[in-house]
Amino acid sequence: MVAPIYRIGRRKASRRISAVIDRLNTSYKRHELAEISGSDPFRVLICGILSARAKDTQTAPVCRKLFELADNPASLLVIPKAKLKSIIRPIGFYNQKTDALRKTCRILVENYEGDVPETFEELVKLAGIGRKVANLVLSVAFGKDAICVDTHVHRITNRLGWVESNDVLDTEKQLMALVARRRWRTLNYVFVRHGQECCHPLSPWCSRCPIEKWCAKVAVTRCR
Ligand code: SF4
Repeated sequence: MVAPIYRIGRRKASRRISAVIDRLNTSYKRHELAEISGSDPFRVLICGILSARAKDTQTAPVCRKLFELADNPASLLVIPKAKLKSIIRPIGFYNQKTDALRKTCRILVENYEGDVPETFEELVKLAGIGRKVANLVLSVAFGKDAICVDTHVHRITNRLGWVESNDVLDTEKQLMALVARRRWRTLNYVFVRHGQECCHPLSPWCSRCPIEKWCAKVAVTRCR
């Protein structure tokens, strides 16, 4: 059984972290939502809001359709609310997400001349934006060093034995202390893909996992 990273030496830990990220990067080359949003701040922000509690496979076609109609906050506000709602409907929570999109776009138009703000403090004041999406925008759109910790990153890094944590904020802090800064931006991408494809919450596919040999499987009681 592989020992958790917090029980091995710093140098060995660093090598294992690099190996895991490199392997996942190779395994999951294509990320549809990332391709749709690119590094455009508006698109990253909107994809972040819409992807909450939804699978990327559901979110991606909705984002594509939406960006065909609106590629900036002002043009999104022109879309009638009922139409916007019908576009978002396939991904669930469409009432809340419709309101969050409209509210956020209104703030961007009124307070930021249609631009997306570049600070964490301003981003979390927008509607539908929590710590996770704010860090996603900072890292992907503005190239800032931030770790976007969502449920996948939290679950998998605990299983791998990288962190010992009960909540996402604590996971974020532990990962910032553990992972080299130049790796921060790729963490969310690789672990979200891995969580969706292989390391599922209830019964992970350990038998087909590309990083099994580096996994401590902490608290994994059932796997396939
Ligand atoms: S699928 Fe299994 S082996 Fe792979 S990271 Fe998850 S718990 Fe570890």
